[in-house]
Amino acid sequence: MTLDEARAADAADPLAHCRSRFALPEGVIYLDGNSLGALPVATPAAQSDLVERQWRDRLIRGWNEGWIEAPQRVGAKIAPLIGAKAHEVIATDSTSANLFKLIVAVLQASGRHTVLSEAGNFPTDLHVAEGAVKCVPNARLEIVTRESIAASIGPDTALVLLTHVHYKTAQRYDMKSITTTAHAAGAMMLWDLSHSAGAVGVDLNGADADLAVGCGYKYLNGGPGSPAYLFVAERHQGRLANPLSGWMGHAEPFAFADAYQPAPGIDRWLCGTPPVLALSALESGLACFDGVTMAQLEAKSAALFELFTARAAALGLECVTPAGPAARGSHISFRHPEAWPINNALIEAGVIGDFRAPDILRFGLTPLYLAFEDVWCATEILSDILSTGRWREPRFAARSRVT
Ligand SMILES: *Cc1c(COP(=O)(O)O)cnc(C)c1O
Repeated sequence: MTLDEARAADAADPLAHCRSRFALPEGVIYLDGNSLGALPVATPAAQSDLVERQWRDRLIRGWNEGWIEAPQRVGAKIAPLIGAKAHEVIATDSTSANLFKLIVAVLQASGRHTVLSEAGNFPTDLHVAEGAVKCVPNARLEIVTRESIAASIGPDTALVLLTHVHYKTAQRYDMKSITTTAHAAGAMMLWDLSHSAGAVGVDLNGADADLAVGCGYKYLNGGPGSPAYLFVAERHQGRLANPLSGWMGHAEPFAFADAYQPAPGIDRWLCGTPPVLALSALESGLACFDGVTMAQLEAKSAALFELFTARAAALGLECVTPAGPAARGSHISFRHPEAWPINNALIEAGVIGDFRAPDILRFGLTPLYLAFEDVWCATEILSDILSTGRWREPRFAARSRVT
């Protein structure tokens, strides 16, 4: 594809108008929306309304003027992006905390003891699972390779915990097939959607999934440290209990009772007071999906990926992301022993991707705001950095705390 052809693809792109919903900085090609989504144009005004009108003028009255329902309202806006019903999703806590709540809940409700997950899963998923199994007598965590997950689901497996799209390689599980295998063995299935929701099609109910969690600050554009979300299929809502039984998950928080009585439905997964400012920013991020279908996101993501791979093919980079669109998410990753300095040289040249230890160069292809021209120019710059060897300059070797 030539630059003119890339521009023609942008002109024909049904999602092209969504780019103006974001305040992207000049001179930057942003290929890291899978790690921190871009700032929506509407967010600053909505935040300032919340602080300067609602908080300052309405004070405590704000709770009855939309604040207290924010977790449910925002959850309902996430639901269509993940194939869930509105009352099956709630925006609350972090992905890590939501994982803990669901893992412990399943172990406590199950006669089985094993949580099964994948070696190389996102670190917090494994770390939280390690801590969660210590909270339930006789529970254990079993970590196996990706290839042996299906075969390892056994008579003691209470829960299979997997990340739908892998954060490094972008490999995507067939959600329906693994969920069916888990159910056939009598296990429940918990999907982490952090790298899928908002970028590729997700159909939790179509796959008969039991539980899910996901992140608000990646493809959902909720801002740094945005609240996460949690999904519990309707059929499980009455029987699973939140181990972080805080007052906001109580059936009647303002009855101020001593004894905990869980709220019916999804509300019981709340713990403490909702972070209203942060939930409002997430709500602004979700508004960027108005009028956008999952099929459009998925098609654009696949087309951006195709352009990237075609342009990168001549660079001799080892791509670790599967080629088939249904087998991957919305980022593309390459293995290179000098990934760190190469990524730094790219950032200096205005192409922001990221580095994942020890040797992965990762580029997020955010379908909502990335243009074909962006991918064309980014690959041109990548090619220049590799062919000139500019990344060898000593300043690109310095390490930073967050990568
Ligand atoms: C980003 C990400 C998280 C983040 O968890 P936090 O609690 O928000 O830090 C968790 N799981 C996966 C798979 C992720 O990609």
